[in-house]
Amino acid sequence: MRIFTFDTTLRDGTQGESVSFSADDKMMIAQKLDELGIDYIEGGWPGSNPKDKEFFERAKGLGLKHAKLTAFGSTRFARRRVEEDPNVRELIAAATPAVSIFGKSWDLHTARALGIGEEENLALISETVKILKDHGREVVYDAEHFFDGYQSNPAFALRTLEAAKKAGADVLVLCDTNGGAIPARLVEVVAEVRQRFDGTLGIHTHNDSDVAVANTLAAVEQGVTHVQGCMNGYGERCGNANLVSIIANLELKLGHTTIGRENLPNLSAAARFIAELANLPMRNDQPYVGRSAFAHKGGVHVSAVLKDAATYEHVPPETVGNRQRVLLSDLSGRGNVLYKLKEHGLAGRLDDDARRNLLERIKHMEYQGYELEAAEGTFELMVREALRPGARLFDVIGYEVSTRMINASGAPVNETTATVTLKVGDGIHTATAKGCGPMNALEVCLRQCLAKLYPQIANVRLTDYKVRVLDSRKGTATKVRVLVEWSDQQKSWSTVGVSDNVIEASWIAMLDAIRLELMRLTEQDATTQRVVEDYCWGV
Ligand SMILES: [Zn+2]
Repeated sequence: MRIFTFDTTLRDGTQGESVSFSADDKMMIAQKLDELGIDYIEGGWPGSNPKDKEFFERAKGLGLKHAKLTAFGSTRFARRRVEEDPNVRELIAAATPAVSIFGKSWDLHTARALGIGEEENLALISETVKILKDHGREVVYDAEHFFDGYQSNPAFALRTLEAAKKAGADVLVLCDTNGGAIPARLVEVVAEVRQRFDGTLGIHTHNDSDVAVANTLAAVEQGVTHVQGCMNGYGERCGNANLVSIIANLELKLGHTTIGRENLPNLSAAARFIAELANLPMRNDQPYVGRSAFAHKGGVHVSAVLKDAATYEHVPPETVGNRQRVLLSDLSGRGNVLYKLKEHGLAGRLDDDARRNLLERIKHMEYQGYELEAAEGTFELMVREALRPGARLFDVIGYEVSTRMINASGAPVNETTATVTLKVGDGIHTATAKGCGPMNALEVCLRQCLAKLYPQIANVRLTDYKVRVLDSRKGTATKVRVLVEWSDQQKSWSTVGVSDNVIEASWIAMLDAIRLELMRLTEQDATTQRVVEDYCWGV
């Protein structure tokens, strides 16, 4: 069945505590949602703030191909004629093809919050729906607090829906505004409403009970064909129903059509794009689209997945634009290593014994605090070392770093000097250099020592550097893990070092990066390879 998707990331989503979008962000997100095949994009509340009003003004030039831009607002205020209500006027001025308005379905709210009687509440709803219909708008009527209202006074709640329907509302949306409903109870209410009303019914849930997606799917099974939610589950308090998961479940599990199977592989990229604009980290464990959604760590899982992915994956990751990942850790089995070797095109070059040794080395390093999953470069180096035992290319005899701060003339000056001694090729090489801090000074020395024999390393540059404390209980005496990203202009890779000395951890990561680049180059470049092999094997 065709189920219509209504995205409210730009309205309800921005009510999430850490979510904020500029007008430019909102334009880009609307465009992305349109490309994804979303049916309705709720852009904001033009009557409530100037930023949303500006968005609708600019959005007139968006040229959306599929989605209907939707302005959101409330029913008219009590004691104000509908034609003169500023909120209703802004809704009309937004000039969107669809408008969503919310009205009260809970007697507690009409009596306490609005201080009006039942008849007046019904008049607010029907007059507002009618004026919007008279202006040619498609009207999505959001019955706020519907499930709480139905619990408190079912007849009252149903009459509000009736008022909206009679006035011409195109969609009646049942809202679990407080997010307190659970599926078993919610389906009874949706079934009751479905029996009484024909036409399109919608569902809008919040995740306060951690079942917003489940509630949405349960409502669809009762005949709802319009689903509201936010990308990545953003939204007020614990968030709205996650539209990403709703779409994937409706398409892949329940056989419905939402954005269409042809658009489904764009889901992961769209979710990440919006997380990027929201400046929020994408949750790794977010179902379907998170980095870990199809990541396998346990050795038993990995060996089964390598034979048949369906053994530990509920859907093929490619269907939603994600990918399978295999993690290396102390839980790894030989399958994890084999998978990684295949990824690097090195499978088949290590025999069983060598693979077993490699696995033991990985487990030992993970035990010490190494995290190889994020350091593909370190892993690749280990494999290359296993392929060419003894090919270390150079050995470190020692290094020394000193940093001092002088404040003699009132202008503090920091100075760092390093000395590195290596055994390279035919002899011992020592370099001393100043640098902007210890890493830089060591790097300059390292390059000076290696430059003659390996001039190609001039292209390798540091592009990112992260330090993580491994045991915060030890305070400043803790071990740290340093993750460094490198690039040689064509590709990038990360290496890792662990030590209770941050300089030593950084130095280990730096040596691995340079060694790896040399290993790669010496395999590609026959002349260099001869030089290196002459050295390594003493020919
Ligand atoms: Zn809401």
